[in-house]
Amino acid sequence: MSDATIQLFTRGSLQLTASPPLALYIHLPWCIRKCPYCDFNSHEGSKGQTELPFAQYIDALIADLDMQLPKVWGRKLWSIFIGGGTPSLFPPQEIDRLLSAVFARFGPPTSGEITMEANPGTFEQARFRAFRAAGVTRLSIGVQTFNEQHLQRLGRVHDATQARQAAALAGEVFETFNIDLMYALPDQTQEQALQDIETALSFNPPHLSLYQLTIEPNTAFAVHPPTLPDDDTQASVEEAVREQARAAGLRRYEISAFAKAGHECRHNLNYWQFGDYLGIGAGAHAKLSFPQQILREVRVRQPMAYIEKALAGDALLESRVLKAAELPFEFALNGLRLIDGVPDVFYRERCGRPLTDLTRSRLQAEQKGLLQPGDVLKATDLGLRFLNDVQQMFLD
Ligand code: SF4
Repeated sequence: MSDATIQLFTRGSLQLTASPPLALYIHLPWCIRKCPYCDFNSHEGSKGQTELPFAQYIDALIADLDMQLPKVWGRKLWSIFIGGGTPSLFPPQEIDRLLSAVFARFGPPTSGEITMEANPGTFEQARFRAFRAAGVTRLSIGVQTFNEQHLQRLGRVHDATQARQAAALAGEVFETFNIDLMYALPDQTQEQALQDIETALSFNPPHLSLYQLTIEPNTAFAVHPPTLPDDDTQASVEEAVREQARAAGLRRYEISAFAKAGHECRHNLNYWQFGDYLGIGAGAHAKLSFPQQILREVRVRQPMAYIEKALAGDALLESRVLKAAELPFEFALNGLRLIDGVPDVFYRERCGRPLTDLTRSRLQAEQKGLLQPGDVLKATDLGLRFLNDVQQMFLD
């Protein structure tokens, strides 16, 4: 073990009382075309999908994973999430090679959950069964809307028929699946938003993610902003779509996520409960805990540079030890997204700090009716409506 790795285990002022679950996030960065609202680290496959360096990228991921092993010796993986970009552009045999390499180093994840994001194009649907055979148990389909005009407005490459086919097939092939939908789209009426949810629910999805379209900096929509529904319309659409999901037996368990009992995303729950995660792939983020410190890492963002650096043994772009003063906000930022909140005891266990760190902010938020009293850090209904403000109250 190198001196730098030994220092990770021996330095720091925190006193963690337990090692949190460890997840693995794998970023596959290419898309057929960049959507105008997207601010993810996704890159257009401008040379055409067949020419993308899929095999070298998987080699780079495995090399990167090997470089991470000394930091997590002896730990099991809780879950795996293959996100992007559009991971389903990768050939199934490469996904199989990737997962085999992960299993050879960690064994299968203890929660049994291996999620892959996919777009609904026909080309990708033809591969769903092969992705399942490679070990993927949960498919997350980026549908966004079933409305043809809105799909075009969002710059999506699939059409409404393909979205329907993909949702039906995911239910047949995978143990569980998620449909990603967006609302408050350019010129979308409340009726159209509700129609989208109704169509999604007709496929009986165990999990729905409902996001409001927001205009992010450095996107095509930020340069040429579309007309979005006004705030009042957005709020009433939001309430109506949530009610529709509830009525279909999907419980809202996170600010944007709904699930049937037992189908909550285990990987994302680990993020929100301040668990650990390794991150490999272009631009991937990681959070790793040691007995006395917590580290955040980011890997090189450009895919070709990532391949080169990872194969040379160092794809790290940034590495930073969290300061004790940052932990209340970091913890609240994640935990308060959960409708049931997060137990206090996780703060002591996973941040290695006394609960008194949270006291002043909690009292202020409780007095304003934004947090529930008790031994769980949990927003009230009012707090959920003003979640950003509540989270900010935990800033140093
Ligand atoms: S397919 Fe997804 S990741 Fe790719 S550009 Fe569109 S929104 Fe971004």
